[in-house]
Amino acid sequence: MKTPKYTIDTLHKEFPNDDVCLDFIFQKRYGHLDYCPKCGVITKFYRIKTRKYYKCPHCAFELYPLANTIFHKSDTPLTKWFFAIYLFSNGKNGTSAKELERHLGVTYKTAWRMAKQIRLMLQENGGMLSGIIVSSTP
Ligand SMILES: [Zn+2]
Repeated sequence: MKTPKYTIDTLHKEFPNDDVCLDFIFQKRYGHLDYCPKCGVITKFYRIKTRKYYKCPHCAFELYPLANTIFHKSDTPLTKWFFAIYLFSNGKNGTSAKELERHLGVTYKTAWRMAKQIRLMLQENGGMLSGIIVSSTP
């Protein structure tokens, strides 16, 4: 074994709640930004608690890390999404909607929609969570 196996425990430790998940996605998408794209001031965006966006402290410009992602407009917690992506990345042939339904405790309809979107995301570019979530696959 070259790298330590990325297990379900690792996932839960790394992403214990939705805030951590959101920060992770923010870092992935906008972590390289050291200035505000609107006002140009060198700054750090801060998280609006209870909301899913980040704000520039100078001009109040907003960044929505979930925009244009599969997580956008979903009522399903990010932790469940991350778990689902984990299951997909580890199963040889992905995961069925039925399995997602059982593991996540969501409705079959939700599970089916998640499965479809995750499949698309992984097909397109290995997924934006690749490298972290998919780190256990050779
Ligand atoms: Zn600004």
